[in-house]
Amino acid sequence: MTAIRQQDFIDSIADALQFISYYHPQDFVQALAEAYRCEESPAAKDAMGQILTNSRMCAMDKRPICQDTGIVAAFVRVGMDVRWEDATMGVTEMVNAGVRKAYQFPDNVLRASVVSDPAGKRKNTEDNTPAVVHYEIVPGNKVDVRIAAKGGGSENKSKMTMLNPSDDVVEWVVNQLPHMGAGWCPPGILGIGIGGTAEKAMLLAKESLMEHIDMSELKARGPKNRIEELRIEIFDRINALGIGAQGLGGLTTVLDVKILDYPTHAASKPVAIIPNCAATRHIHFELDGSGVATFTPPNLEDYPDVHWQPAADARHVNLDTVTRADIAKWQPGETLLLSGKLLTGRDAAHKRILDLLAKGEKLPSGVDFNGRFIYYVGPVDPVRDEVVGPAGPTTATRMDKFTEGMLAQTGLIGMVGKAERGKVGIEAIKKHAAVYLMAVGGAAYLVAKAIKSAKVVAFADLGMEAIYEFEVKDMPVTVAVDTQGRSVHETGPAEWKKRIGMIPVKQI
Ligand code: SF4
Repeated sequence: MTAIRQQDFIDSIADALQFISYYHPQDFVQALAEAYRCEESPAAKDAMGQILTNSRMCAMDKRPICQDTGIVAAFVRVGMDVRWEDATMGVTEMVNAGVRKAYQFPDNVLRASVVSDPAGKRKNTEDNTPAVVHYEIVPGNKVDVRIAAKGGGSENKSKMTMLNPSDDVVEWVVNQLPHMGAGWCPPGILGIGIGGTAEKAMLLAKESLMEHIDMSELKARGPKNRIEELRIEIFDRINALGIGAQGLGGLTTVLDVKILDYPTHAASKPVAIIPNCAATRHIHFELDGSGVATFTPPNLEDYPDVHWQPAADARHVNLDTVTRADIAKWQPGETLLLSGKLLTGRDAAHKRILDLLAKGEKLPSGVDFNGRFIYYVGPVDPVRDEVVGPAGPTTATRMDKFTEGMLAQTGLIGMVGKAERGKVGIEAIKKHAAVYLMAVGGAAYLVAKAIKSAKVVAFADLGMEAIYEFEVKDMPVTVAVDTQGRSVHETGPAEWKKRIGMIPVKQI
């Protein structure tokens, strides 16, 4: 019988979570590098270049790949011959102790994103606990852990359906992609669960994301069973949609498609999709009683030789002097480098601002949006000499319902966020001749290098959702919705879908 010490288990969980916060899985890096090499869409290639450069920078400095350092999900297989030595906690409590330790590690503090009372006060638990833990009791004398830190943007795009037995799984999956938008930060991996019951299909989809990326090997050797045929068919059909990196239009939307299946009721065909994003983070380890798990860092030489630099013809914008006349000249898809002062705000700050205005109250001093831009971000806390931790954009569609109010009542002229805007957001942008700019999701550490100072100016009680004022220098963004309401997330994928259908293209 193997004896596992409680502290070894806790430390292994903590070390694993720290490790995946700054090291992408190498199969992901290699697959993304290959997609980057093949990409023909300049906008998508630029976005992938930022993600790859960000990945190496994070590995070098041991700082998070993304400002959203995720909610922890773990699949734990406990051998039936395992004994827990000196344990005073249940195993879930031990996992949570490891999460707490990892997210509060002083040299690389991770963002606490988990809130309790999800249908009510939504109060941040401050230490990113609790994790979501799934167990299996299996023969053997080891504890096997697969653990992931899952970003909210990609988790939010999960889908589940109960198909009729005769319905086509491929058709349903491929039809979901255009509705998922780019808030899941493609290119990434699609996890699919087929069969079982409703909840089992979701679990299978999540579990499938723990597997290695092997689409190019699978294509090279050919499918051996129906599931592998489905993987290839879904992979090719999704990439033929032309959605591309960050939804900008391009050749690669998914780097792999994973499927796990399970027997189901004769009347049912449950199907679930869970996407993994540009910040794909997961790792596997085993404990055999010999101590804490060890993790081997990747070799920096193994990272692709990609060093993103802003395009020489990018337009430089001074945020402190920019006018409505200036923004009216910006074209969809144009690259800008922003310098000057930028206020931040996410869902909670937007709600509070509009509630104050509805009551006829003034906004806090320091919060003046007149002629200014807002950046949708919840940064990681700084460490060492940083002014701010990784600070990439959050999903802009969540702010759509606040956009009319913000543009009409605060004098705001522009927004910076991630992925597309919805219909309501675009209508408000067009009506007020405002503009929406897009930064690359999954390049948070690179983006943070453009932030030269940061201070909280209001709503400090909201933690990472407080309003900051950033001073930025050459922050890279793309004009995603112009003052006339033209959106690159509509034109880009449409153009690339057509091109993929018409020309021979290189695909991984
Ligand atoms: S890459 Fe995008 S979806 Fe993933 S954690 Fe970061 S912001 Fe969220």
